[in-house]
Amino acid sequence: MATGKIGVTTENIFPVIKKFLYSDHEIFLRELVSNAVDATQKLKTLAAFGDFKGTLGDMDVRVKIDKEAGTLTISDHGIGMDAADIDKYINQIAFSGAEEFLQKYKDTANSIIGHFGLGFYSAFMVSKKVEIRSLSYKEGAKGVLWTCDGSPEYTMEEIDRTERGTDIILFIDDDNKEFLEQARIDTLLKKYCRFLPVPVISGFKQEWKDGKMEDTETPNVINATEPLWTKKPSELTDKDYLEFYHELMPGQEDPMFWIHLNVDYPFTLTGILYFPKIKSNIDIQRNRIQLYCNQVYVTDQVEGVVPEFMTLMQGVIDSPDIPLNVSRSYLQADQQVKKISSYISKKVAEKLNSMFKADRAEFEKKWDDIKIFIEYGMLTDEKFYDAAKKFFLLKDVNDKYYTLEEYRTLVEAEQTDKSGTVIYLYTTDREAQFSYIKAAEDKGYNVLLMDGQLDGHIVSLLESKLENTRFVRVDADIPEKLIQKEDTSKTDLSPLQTEILTGLFSSQIPEVEKAQFTVGLEKLSATSAPATITQNEFMRRMKDMAAMQPGAGFYGELPDSYVLVVNTEEPAVRKVTADATSALESELTPLRSEIESLNAEIAEAQKAKEEKKEDAKDTTEQQKKVAELREKVETAIRNYAATQPEIKQIIDLALLQSNLLKGESLSEFIRRSVSMLPK
Ligand code: ADP
Repeated sequence: MATGKIGVTTENIFPVIKKFLYSDHEIFLRELVSNAVDATQKLKTLAAFGDFKGTLGDMDVRVKIDKEAGTLTISDHGIGMDAADIDKYINQIAFSGAEEFLQKYKDTANSIIGHFGLGFYSAFMVSKKVEIRSLSYKEGAKGVLWTCDGSPEYTMEEIDRTERGTDIILFIDDDNKEFLEQARIDTLLKKYCRFLPVPVISGFKQEWKDGKMEDTETPNVINATEPLWTKKPSELTDKDYLEFYHELMPGQEDPMFWIHLNVDYPFTLTGILYFPKIKSNIDIQRNRIQLYCNQVYVTDQVEGVVPEFMTLMQGVIDSPDIPLNVSRSYLQADQQVKKISSYISKKVAEKLNSMFKADRAEFEKKWDDIKIFIEYGMLTDEKFYDAAKKFFLLKDVNDKYYTLEEYRTLVEAEQTDKSGTVIYLYTTDREAQFSYIKAAEDKGYNVLLMDGQLDGHIVSLLESKLENTRFVRVDADIPEKLIQKEDTSKTDLSPLQTEILTGLFSSQIPEVEKAQFTVGLEKLSATSAPATITQNEFMRRMKDMAAMQPGAGFYGELPDSYVLVVNTEEPAVRKVTADATSALESELTPLRSEIESLNAEIAEAQKAKEEKKEDAKDTTEQQKKVAELREKVETAIRNYAATQPEIKQIIDLALLQSNLLKGESLSEFIRRSVSMLPK
């Protein structure tokens, strides 16, 4: 019997393994089963090349629990190891410079996991003793038993063994008794080994018998050895893809479509990505892509590993180039992984582009459902934007779809303003903004429907990307001014009339929660509405953006600010103006001229002050007087306005059109409307 010291240069590697890897110690099973599968595959390859001439026989990998002995055994019938192999592969673990390394990284367990493939030695995370019993496939090989109790000392001796292959026997330590439970082991095998290429058997299938579950004679095979992604797309039907999807993601609706990735260069990568239907934000759950390395499960924490927008997708990615034994932070920093990520992104864009080109009608049908993926990609990945601008679609309120280029051509002639900017009009709510849409369409404009979860961001993105382009929501201004082609004509009102009309309307606007109004006068066509509510595009967007952020800041607190645009040409407004002018003129004219002369005095004193003249007059009195007079003017206008129900009626109609007339104001409007009916 030989004894020896394992060729690690430090005494403490096992305590380190045990302690630092505590949280992740379940991966030992993945490591050992993968080794068993590798050994099996290797022998199959040797046989295929004629280098192994014996019979292969049963090549399944088995995981067995012996509760009494307190052992968990992983067995294979692969190539096995002789004493020389064990010495080379197990005793001389290639931890070059381990001492120095441990010193450097003793605080960061993850870097240790990241740096070393722990492989076989992860067995010591859960075992007080490990045995290897093995017989190599080589002719004349002798059986060998290797034992190690977790210190760097091992023993190795020859044994009688007739069965080719290896048993790894773990004497599970007291802290890890859970790994002697069949259910726990099966769960882990299902997680890590579900798609391994060699059958992995754990216990027996169970059956319901005499009121309880009992073992049958049938071995319980854990895995599907040929998962769908390893097959050729040309050999697969839609049904295959859907079945695989439901196996991967139980309880989900059918996905919209999928992309089968199959790349050999510049690295090997296979996988299937599914686009699920996302109906609401609740459906957006991340970590639905599983990462495999040669069919061995690595992780489903793929953020930072696949392009961000793909975390909305579901499926599997398998690449031998993804390092198996690493932490997520290590994966994210890995250059190879980064390349894989941008490559996948490119592939997804290519696939979408070819779908668009091959069958545009079909693509348009899917658009509303897939646009969230594409928009997310465009917003988070510059390269994806460049690829996607060929197939990104804008949809108008009549459900017509346009590429960016097509849309430009469509609206350029009609919707360019006087400064040469092309204005893209849009609505965020086809119902609520109906009358604004109608008004814009009546002017010959096209209106886009931008009501998706990410459309607000896309509007900003497109404005920054497309030259000379601005997006304006249909209710941002009166139709005449949405796209300003020339300066609008001024009103014909006198200063007195302007003051009266503005006062009449602003004094009668009802309280609307979280809203603030100013009155604007515009000379529009006589057939246009008497009044319209508009909402400044810039302020609205600031608020919308702020609202999306947690703890919406300054802009989120502000009330919405609206403009009540009064059409001075509209006959009802003209009548209101004329009536009010004749009713108020005699009262207001003297007040206004008094204010005017006081203001002149104040201005003069102000000027003198600025020029630092000694005799500059103090105007506190005059200012007070002006305030009093203003108050009088306002009161006179307000009191008069209160006697004119038409004014409130005009305002309420405008509010109604913008969905702002609610509660008490609404019922008052109804009451007033009824009373105005001719009787
Ligand atoms: P890795 O698998 O990353 O090479 P391990 O520490 O897991 O590292 O294993 C070291 C080596 O030991 C393997 O490369 C293989 O040559 C050998 N080995 C481990 N397990 C087995 C097994 N069940 N059958 C045959 N050889 C094995």
